[in-house]
Amino acid sequence: MTVARGAGGSRCPPACYSRSVDADHGHRFLAPHTIKFCPLCAGTLAVQSVPPDHREQAVCTRCRFIFYLNPKLVAGTIPERDGRVLLTRRSINPGRGLWTFPGGFVDFGETVTDAAVRETFEETGLRVELTGLHNVYSYPAAPVIVVYRAKVIDGALTTCDENDCLEWRAPAEIPWEALAFPSTREALREWVAGRGEMPRG
Ligand SMILES: [Zn+2]
Repeated sequence: MTVARGAGGSRCPPACYSRSVDADHGHRFLAPHTIKFCPLCAGTLAVQSVPPDHREQAVCTRCRFIFYLNPKLVAGTIPERDGRVLLTRRSINPGRGLWTFPGGFVDFGETVTDAAVRETFEETGLRVELTGLHNVYSYPAAPVIVVYRAKVIDGALTTCDENDCLEWRAPAEIPWEALAFPSTREALREWVAGRGEMPRG
């Protein structure tokens, strides 16, 4: 049973923590050593030195398409209300059972800000207005995460397929020992510090 509770409500039941690699996607991802075929003509890819910098790229042996691989882009929000931040508990991997804030991949053709608002609505049932850029987080071989601060316009807290609990948490109530991603910790530390308080995690 999924639950969504706001400030002052009783806490969600404990979750089963898991840091294991996603069973469905752990062995299937795009990387220079995993891509095999050209997405345009289905020709075989070969790693070749490509000018002008002569870095090695996957190049189609048939149509010469250069398959540049770049980091994916994630847009997220830190929804704020009455000095609290809205956290979501993930019910899928990666990070099943761990906490983060709303966010997800930016779709092709979509702006980063539109994606942040859309993902927040999909994951929490709340419509938000972005109030400023919080920060950008980048790590080797990981998506680039763009996080905005946001205020709630309307809607009712509603979980989705990706989370099983939503809670408004004050800085002292953030579960530092059970956060999903390095960017979650960094962003929340900066959010707490921005409020003039000392992060505990
Ligand atoms: Zn090709």
